[in-house]
Amino acid sequence: ENSSAPNFLYNQIREELEQAGGGTIVTRFPPEPNGFLHIGHAKSIWVNFGLAEHFGGKCNLRFDDTNPEKEDQRFIDAIKEDITWLGYQWNGEERYASSYFEQLYAWAQYLVREGKAYVDDLDAETMREYRGTLTEPGRNSPYRDRSVEENLDLLERMRVGEFPEGAKVLRAKINMASPNINLRDPVLYRIRHADHHQAGDAWKIYPAYDFAHGQSDAIEGITHSICTLEFEDHRPLYNWFLDNLPVPARPRQIEFARMNINYTVTSKRKLKLLVDSGVVNGWDDPRMPTVAGLRRRGYTPASLRKLCEMTGVARSSGVVDIHMMYHAIRSDLEENALRAMCVMKPLKVVLTNLPEGHEEIIEVSSHPARDDMGTRKLPLTREIWIDQDDFMIDPPKKFFRLAPEKEVRLRNAYVIRCDEVITDDAGNPVELRCSVDLDTLGKMPEGRKVKGVIHWVSADHGVPVEVRNYDNLFLDEAPDRDKEKDFLEHLNPESLEVVQGVGEPSLADAAPETRFQFERIGYFCADRWDHGKDGKLVFNRTVSLKDGWAK
Ligand code: ATP
Ligand code: MG
Ligand code: MG
Repeated sequence: ENSSAPNFLYNQIREELEQAGGGTIVTRFPPEPNGFLHIGHAKSIWVNFGLAEHFGGKCNLRFDDTNPEKEDQRFIDAIKEDITWLGYQWNGEERYASSYFEQLYAWAQYLVREGKAYVDDLDAETMREYRGTLTEPGRNSPYRDRSVEENLDLLERMRVGEFPEGAKVLRAKINMASPNINLRDPVLYRIRHADHHQAGDAWKIYPAYDFAHGQSDAIEGITHSICTLEFEDHRPLYNWFLDNLPVPARPRQIEFARMNINYTVTSKRKLKLLVDSGVVNGWDDPRMPTVAGLRRRGYTPASLRKLCEMTGVARSSGVVDIHMMYHAIRSDLEENALRAMCVMKPLKVVLTNLPEGHEEIIEVSSHPARDDMGTRKLPLTREIWIDQDDFMIDPPKKFFRLAPEKEVRLRNAYVIRCDEVITDDAGNPVELRCSVDLDTLGKMPEGRKVKGVIHWVSADHGVPVEVRNYDNLFLDEAPDRDKEKDFLEHLNPESLEVVQGVGEPSLADAAPETRFQFERIGYFCADRWDHGKDGKLVFNRTVSLKDGWAK
């Protein structure tokens, strides 16, 4: 079930292995620990771990931790937890690019000795000017021809912190006229007087992504370094380092298209902004497209893998419709979620022909098609709650719910008839007085058809529940389409509606993260953190019952 559906990566690797007459692959998933994983990362995880699994290989987890200021141990822990939850296991201990800092530094010195790297004193802005443009070649820095000795000396002094941040950088000496701007003497090291979450205060310089990534791949014996398309232009540089350094292996970079989903954003920077500005309640808010947020919302690992499979692996970018994500979880929950009844806006119904103190236990299956999921007990009492929306004093023609002098079936129980409506001063119904046809448990009534079925809960035994109805976080399908405009302007002000409802008693026993179909309403998940705290029952709406907007 984890295998990547056939796609160009899969086909390419299969052909390679066939031509080589066997062998296997080593991939890696390389997150930067500067935020929680999002649904796009889930795709990368599915690709990297999925391919390794399929070809009997291995997948490393490597933290690409070369930017100490933005990174944090908390994110490392969250990333490991999310990957495990998704159902994948990395090869051995997790790795860190920072464990290779000594080796990378030795390779930087190697390039200097070979005359292929130099220390540059140009400030950032001048260096940008010298870099040229797509149509104009760059110019050589006046520091480009420093001697090997001087460069080695300056580099060492950069390392130990003799110079302030921004004073110098180490650059590769490649070609300032290259049509590929990435090859115009890229920066290899920057001065940063920052402590590192793994390396402590040992370093005052930190390697650039491009100088760390391919070499880390080589050190770990990665065969296929799979990344997203924005790195395509970096591939010549990736290969230049492998060609010009005495690396122990020759990994290969292959790119595929990022997975983007409409009505949301998948960029850690933007997700961090949502968290920091308090728009959401943390990285795992159920509205966030983070793995932890989706988990809290009620998504299953299988549904996220299914989404990855459904959306495929392509060489060109596209946007996935969020309804595909809804579809993936809905079909999983349709098959696997427990059934329960929950009333959102309670309206009292008195069943007048049941005696005071009547208590009848109806045992019903927890899932109509799954005997293995067992049964639950529904107490029926003289007073019950139904949903306000299931009753109308003056209904339109095709209203197959309850109305004065009309009949309806109580789900899993009897047919009732509304004999009397008690209203408040404004004419709103506050109580219905109904009679039960006691000959209709599990069978049709005599001589007439009752089409409607409504859900209900015993007023004596129902349990108070807080229901959090989540909706899309953005109203615009491409909230970050306009680079000039603030994506926060497109927020959906109604992305969370909190309702105090009444649930059937079995909900009181639900463990956090138990998933339900509240019959006739939607799919819900007991909140991972708040459910059961201080005796409170809290359910998050995962997705509506049917397609269409989550409303
Ligand atoms: P972001 O822009 O959200 O910060 P990133 O690429 O900088 O994303 P990393 O932590 O560096 O985040 O990503 C780890 C891996 O996940 C990389 O290989 C990256 O290419 C991949 N990845 C990130 N976003 C997506 C996405 N939307 N679809 C597929 N793969 C992705
Ligand atoms: Mg990155
Ligand atoms: Mg990033």
